[in-house]
Amino acid sequence: MGKDDAVDDAIDEGMRLVEQLASAGHLDRLFIDGEWVLPLGHGRAAVVDPSTEETIAEIARGNAQDVDEAVIAARRAFAGWSVSSPQDRAALLDRVHSLILERAELFAQAISLEMGAAISTARGAQVPMAAEHIRVARDLAGSYPFLTHREGVAIMREAIGVCALITPWNWPLYQITAKVGPALAAGCTVVLKPSELSPLSALLFAQVLHDAGIPAGVFNLVNGSGLEVGAALSAHPDVDMISITGSNRAGILVAQAAAPTVKRVAQELGGKSPNLILPDADFPRAVAAGVAAGFRNVGQSCSAPTRMIVPRERLAEVERIACEAVSAIVVGDPRSPQTTHGPVANRAQFNRVQEMIDAGIAEGARLVCGGPGRPQGLERGFYARPTIFSDVHTRMRIAQEEIFGPVLAIIPYDSVDEAVEIANDTVYGLGAHVQGRDLAAARAVAARIRSGQVHINNPPWNPHAPFGGYKHSGNGREYGVEGLQEYLETKSILGWQGEPN
Ligand code: NAD
Repeated sequence: MGKDDAVDDAIDEGMRLVEQLASAGHLDRLFIDGEWVLPLGHGRAAVVDPSTEETIAEIARGNAQDVDEAVIAARRAFAGWSVSSPQDRAALLDRVHSLILERAELFAQAISLEMGAAISTARGAQVPMAAEHIRVARDLAGSYPFLTHREGVAIMREAIGVCALITPWNWPLYQITAKVGPALAAGCTVVLKPSELSPLSALLFAQVLHDAGIPAGVFNLVNGSGLEVGAALSAHPDVDMISITGSNRAGILVAQAAAPTVKRVAQELGGKSPNLILPDADFPRAVAAGVAAGFRNVGQSCSAPTRMIVPRERLAEVERIACEAVSAIVVGDPRSPQTTHGPVANRAQFNRVQEMIDAGIAEGARLVCGGPGRPQGLERGFYARPTIFSDVHTRMRIAQEEIFGPVLAIIPYDSVDEAVEIANDTVYGLGAHVQGRDLAAARAVAARIRSGQVHINNPPWNPHAPFGGYKHSGNGREYGVEGLQEYLETKSILGWQGEPN
């Protein structure tokens, strides 16, 4: 099958998916108390295909009253779900996991359509990694010690309550499962508000939960805007915890709105992650892998290593290897199997990337590949050119601000101490990479970096590795045991006596 045939087939599949969601009535509905219901709000939100800039669907937006309905349902369901056996919760999550894998192609099409991920990325990373969060939550539900004993005290870890979960568009399903999986495993009930820009995969996910037999009210989906639905959830007096993954702007607003009701607030926010290449690193591998990681998902990952910190005397070599790595990137129609990188996800993001490329040029950073505008031959769609600046100074905006697009800053250093200082010199502290042959030295550098996760020499992704931010990158941890514990309260019972059970 030729490239154009593959694209035509994929366009048909995308249209079929939207028709399927429309004919099921899901585009017009919210999922509350175990049923697809028409919202009380009357607003609609356009879903725009970033590769064509065309509206491909409209979804119904809920409002604050819909939030009330969902929270009431979640509160009612909490009484039973929170005391259900962890094995029953594991069994439910097992069914959810199987259904996601069964419907993997549908999810991949939805994600590619709603946020522009190359279909190969959607199939190879977005969906399988999302499923992994459910698998890990399933395993933890069955194995986590919810009751332990210490020095005569019984320590009970129990579900915190009704959780509101707010997610972004960049890894739409993955961000949802990273929250919903552990929340359900812990015994919490949830109200999910996905990004209004990427709601299709979330609608499919709600149907998966329905088909897996989730009890009414345990999982609820309220689509809508951050300002309306997100704000109502944050301030709601009967929500016990709110977890948001998104921008610092939204994360701060959520925390402010949540404060008067003293709910727990978990924030997974922005990043400007360093990739510190030590002098003894294997440069061809380290630089090429660093470019791949920085531009993964078109740079739209909160922990993307977008600051490559390299020995000054190796600058020319690094630039050469980095540009070679960029030449292997194929920016194009996300439906084409040849495409490695699709468009950025939306117009605001496209404008932001252009603004920051212009800022880099204006501040005197040296452009070594890419630049403003769209790649040649792509006149329509939110396509950006993979762009690398070198000789970047740590005070420049492109070294400090999260861009969330395919823009890499190469920053030279003169000593390892200076490199560590540069690595820590932003308000963020989410991810980090260290590259070097001497593992003891690399570990020592990793220990000095102020961030929630450090990767030494590009290890594979691991869903058990806790993930979250130092400094302005957020509060709390997701993934693995720590991700489950976010959704638990600790109760100590003195005078328990008797045997542990
Ligand atoms: P965003 O902040 O615009 O939106 C994220 C979510 O928050 C959406 O569902 C949105 O509707 C909601 N929201 C917006 N304003 C709100 C408000 N006032 N009250 C409640 N909810 C509100 O972010 P985005 O553009 O969707 O995503 C990009 C950002 O997310 C980047 O800054 C990125 O770094 C961050 N991010 C962080 C992580 C992480 O794990 N730390 C992961 C992915 C993305």
